[in-house]
Amino acid sequence: MERYSAFGLVKHALTGHKKWPEVWRSPEPKPEYDVIIVGGGGHGLATAYNLAKNYKGKRVAILEKNWIGSGNTGRNTTIVRSDYYYKPSAEFFKYSLSLYGKLSKELNYNVMFSKRGSLTLSHSRDDFDFQRRLVNAMQLNGIDIRHIGLAEIKKICPILNFSKDARYPIYGAMWEPGAGTVRHDAVVWGYARAADALGVDIIQNCEVTGINKDLQTGAVTGLETSRGKINAKTIGLAVAGHSTELAAMAGFRLPIRSMALQAFVSEPVKPVLNTVISSRAISSYASQSDRGGLVMGGGVDPYNSYAQKGNTPVLEEVLSGLIELVPSFSRVRLLRQWAGIVDYTYDSSPIIGPSPVPGLFLNCGWGGGGFKAIPAGGEAFAHLLATGQVPPLVEAFSLSRFKDARLVDEAAGAGIAH
Ligand SMILES: Cc1cc2nc3c(=O)[nH]c(=O)nc-3n(C[C@H](O)[C@H](O)[C@H](O)COP(=O)(O)OP(=O)(O)OC[C@H]3O[C@@H](n4cnc5c(N)ncnc54)[C@H](O)[C@@H]3O)c2cc1C
Repeated sequence: MERYSAFGLVKHALTGHKKWPEVWRSPEPKPEYDVIIVGGGGHGLATAYNLAKNYKGKRVAILEKNWIGSGNTGRNTTIVRSDYYYKPSAEFFKYSLSLYGKLSKELNYNVMFSKRGSLTLSHSRDDFDFQRRLVNAMQLNGIDIRHIGLAEIKKICPILNFSKDARYPIYGAMWEPGAGTVRHDAVVWGYARAADALGVDIIQNCEVTGINKDLQTGAVTGLETSRGKINAKTIGLAVAGHSTELAAMAGFRLPIRSMALQAFVSEPVKPVLNTVISSRAISSYASQSDRGGLVMGGGVDPYNSYAQKGNTPVLEEVLSGLIELVPSFSRVRLLRQWAGIVDYTYDSSPIIGPSPVPGLFLNCGWGGGGFKAIPAGGEAFAHLLATGQVPPLVEAFSLSRFKDARLVDEAAGAGIAH
């Protein structure tokens, strides 16, 4: 792999930038691998990279039915933070955020981590008190977060509507200074390039259509795909909103609902918002991309669906709420609207661990919040696939917690869906 550097830029400029090497190969699938990861999103790619880097000598492939990053990883609103309530979640997301801080260097690829902080507003006395309790609990878990008042909020984000007569008057906010945004495509491309350089076969346009098992032991033996049969004794599923489909192919059910989560981007405008703002009362959030677009989102569509597209009611709900918070946004034109199919568990926490089928492992249930989890999720899943052992960092996120009633209910705890 050619290292990216300022020197390289100059060198390639001399040949008119016509001799850059391919960023990753497009190999034909081999008949057999040691480990196959299904799903070329951030989690699949980060897992493959960590497998190839930390557990050398294994033949690893990623199978992606479309193109890498075509799922939620290329559709999300790029926010990374760690304001979770329960200890296992706080530890996991804090670690993941710390890995994001080092990722550009690790991958030799600029993932454009912008540590611009995240402001979660409160709009009533009750909301204010609830946030104070949350912040105390999060601080006890080692999260760098503070509860701040109006004077500080005005300094951080002066364009908010601070009028006492506002429909959503601002009382205070949770402020996580180390949170921010990371360019989603760059995470996909950076991991793909680094994994490919370590020998991982990234096979795009390869849909998994069946999971084969040994009739006697019940263990996985390989996959049926749109590009033929491919064998492997260890298979990891990282297919987000399609997890239940793949589980059904293997003969079991998952406590997961697939739902559409929408997002919106405006035309580019000059810098007006240099932090992430969100409000649980209006269930909406926004940040400004480096290109100038206002990137906005809200809650998940309230019904199960595989329809990967936007609709007008959610658009109205999200944008009308945001305009109450920042009235000047009403003058900005909307450019695009889209959706991804996210995978919600009933306790709004992920599942990383073994499945009921020997040799088949699960990485799913990230809902609307798994982008921030990619570096740590990939590391943990790689360890699981290589050793069969669940790393302590993700022990709380086993599938068996739904049977043993050991839920990690972050929707109830942190008041966020994910
Ligand atoms: C609108 C929106 C906004 C979001 N905002 C944020 C945010 O700000 N911060 C945050 O942390 N998270 C956010 N998320 C959530 C986040 O994007 C996801 O949790 C995360 O990207 C999941 O990554 P993944 O690799 O598990 O899944 P994906 O990126 O969805 O990858 C799964 C891949 O599996 C492939 N696949 C499916 N079935 C098959 C098959 N049969 N064969 C082969 N391949 C298959 C798919 O094509 C897909 O590419 C958001 C999500 C959406 C939709």
